[in-house]
Amino acid sequence: MSLPQTLPIVNDSHQNLLAMTSIEISNLVAQLEWPAFRAKQILQWLYQHRAKKISLMSNLSKKDRERLQSISMIDRAKAPTVVNSQDGTRKLLFSLENGLAIESVLIPDDPRLTLCISTQVGCTVDCSFCLTGQMGLKRNLKAHEIVEQVLTAQDLLAEGERITSLVFMGMGEPLANVDAVTEAVTRLTNTQWGLGIPARRITISTAGFAPRLKAVAGLGINLAVSLNASTNAQRDHLMPMMNKLHPLPELLEACRAYPLDPNRRLTFEYVLLSGENDSPDDAKRLIHLLHGIQCKINLIPFNEFPGSPFRRPSDAAIENFQAILRQGQYDVFLRKSRGRDILGACGQLGNIPT
Ligand code: SF4
Repeated sequence: MSLPQTLPIVNDSHQNLLAMTSIEISNLVAQLEWPAFRAKQILQWLYQHRAKKISLMSNLSKKDRERLQSISMIDRAKAPTVVNSQDGTRKLLFSLENGLAIESVLIPDDPRLTLCISTQVGCTVDCSFCLTGQMGLKRNLKAHEIVEQVLTAQDLLAEGERITSLVFMGMGEPLANVDAVTEAVTRLTNTQWGLGIPARRITISTAGFAPRLKAVAGLGINLAVSLNASTNAQRDHLMPMMNKLHPLPELLEACRAYPLDPNRRLTFEYVLLSGENDSPDDAKRLIHLLHGIQCKINLIPFNEFPGSPFRRPSDAAIENFQAILRQGQYDVFLRKSRGRDILGACGQLGNIPT
């Protein structure tokens, strides 16, 4: 039975197409008694063309666009405030409802351009060295709010510039919001109608939600584990909530069980804190802890922020730590700090009022 063409068929309010999954959009198309391929066209407009209005969907007839407009809309995030660092890093501040806000960071490193995105407002976890952790959790982001950070960042780029890698390392613990993160990854990676970002170019970083590692194992993304300690007691001190829930031995066991292709590796991130976890003994313990895991190690010298009791180690201590790990036959990389002057570097997000 055809429905009257003037009445909304789904509900009284206009639905945000971005808030719908691809299946929900297919269902909407079916309800409208349109051919199934219409769903793919709509999705392509949302993600590949980054359309902000239904009226731009030029391969839909005027009548169909009007019909779609009568029941739905594209409710894109408001334009963010952009804060520019001297080193070319750009911090994007997105305003949400009720005065909440999130941050994304665009990090150029020629020829690459990485976007670091948030998954929560604040964070479930309370890593003692992280500014975001001090905010507590305000709420989880929805899938479309995660994806919109990418759509908006791409809108801001110059013609021909494109995001080459995406890291879920902004505000929040991604695996505490795993359903939304999984749905977001689907939209980001889909090549038929989504953004078509290769899964290998996406890294999800967890503070150690051990039982949920397997929830993202099938996505084909890179997994980074924020380790930051060489003993359980040290991790209790630096990451109290996460380590109480999932102590270091449980986390390492989950890492050992994580299914990896022979040519893929886990990444362990290690924030170096002066006098806390940066001694030669820490480096030697790490060599033993990670033995047998296909991995590389990213060292992140602490990025100081006002009020933090932690300090960045000296360059000599950092180099020595790296050298010991390399003697243990690990690939060890030193993360360049970008955007420190705008509190856009790792662990510094959350200082929303700028
Ligand atoms: S380091 Fe990551 S997991 Fe820990 S408090 Fe900060 S945002 Fe949350």
